[in-house]
Amino acid sequence: MKTHGAVLYGRGQDWQIEEIELDPPKELEVLVRWEAAGLCHSDEHLRGSDMGSQEHEAESKEATEAPPSGLFPILGGHEGGGVVLEVGPGVRSVEVGDHVAASFFPICGHCTMCITGHSNLCDMGATTMLAGQISDGTMRYHLKGKDLNVMASVGTFAEHAVVHEASLVKVDNDLPLDVVALVSCGVTTGWGSAVYRADIKPGDTVVVVGVGGVGMNAVQGAAMVGAKNIVAVDLVEFKQKSALDFGATHTAGSIEEAIPLVRELTRGAMANAVILVPSTMYGHLMEGALTMTGKNGTCVVTGMAPQGQKEASINLFELAMWQKQVRGVVFGAANPRFDIPNLLALYKSGQLKLEELITRSYPLDQINQGYQDMLDGVNIRGVLTMV
Ligand SMILES: [Zn+2]
Ligand SMILES: [Zn+2]
Repeated sequence: MKTHGAVLYGRGQDWQIEEIELDPPKELEVLVRWEAAGLCHSDEHLRGSDMGSQEHEAESKEATEAPPSGLFPILGGHEGGGVVLEVGPGVRSVEVGDHVAASFFPICGHCTMCITGHSNLCDMGATTMLAGQISDGTMRYHLKGKDLNVMASVGTFAEHAVVHEASLVKVDNDLPLDVVALVSCGVTTGWGSAVYRADIKPGDTVVVVGVGGVGMNAVQGAAMVGAKNIVAVDLVEFKQKSALDFGATHTAGSIEEAIPLVRELTRGAMANAVILVPSTMYGHLMEGALTMTGKNGTCVVTGMAPQGQKEASINLFELAMWQKQVRGVVFGAANPRFDIPNLLALYKSGQLKLEELITRSYPLDQINQGYQDMLDGVNIRGVLTMV
């Protein structure tokens, strides 16, 4: 069948809306009609950073100057909510008419990580940026007669997709699909960073650096657990103000501004948890973040750094003597098949704000405007709506 999607031809270029030829689903695959897709920063990293390159596997400096790998052209999008139109042979987890969330990491259900409750780290995730379908490596997407790569094996910036059932999570049919799309990545990533990875306790002081579509949910998570002080740090005043509606108790315009505030709030003890969700993570941000992290405190790195970023300013003496922890996290250390429906249930019961995260919706052909608005800081989250 023919469908339309937003394709990136190379770093630094704009998204192009193209007609794509899509093959029918094969064994364990599902044809989905995406109705909404979140404009997450990770797809922008594909455009503006070095994500997905294989160059860094080589240790030499010249390697970073090498021409891009076979990643491009690529169909973008990894946050999505849609409807199952057709199932291939052997599919058991969904049926025609089901509503689904995309899971940018597939969940096999039986590898070591999956069976020990860490399915966000499923071994199948290794395939997520590789060309071809998860099932057998062959291609279902074709553009102008050539094979087309697909972001995270889900390609949600398109009207339709053929995805492995391991990349889909069934959700209730009465939920708005734009809300489902947000929970499929950004919401869960932020919320889990606070609740699971920072392990916040009632009465804690928490700092969230960067309160966009992901960080805002770290604020919500911290508030839900009962943190006493929640300091939202963002350059953009509109996001600082919005954070107060999501549970922040204080705001600051920069890490430098936040340090004396945290010192004052805690009588010098500093924060129990600092969660880093800047638009791009850089090593130099660790210095201020660890200054704000108190004894036995945790600094969670959620934001995505350039793939080649290897150095960070960390005072190793204080790290040991104050017994601080630095913890990385992906997808909020959450289990997609449990946490996506669970967060949507909290939304339904009025305990999690999701609609309020969506500042603006765009049709597919306005995707470049949507990303420009994200970069300009005017959106908490922009969403593409396909129908
Ligand atoms: Zn995302
Ligand atoms: Zn697995």
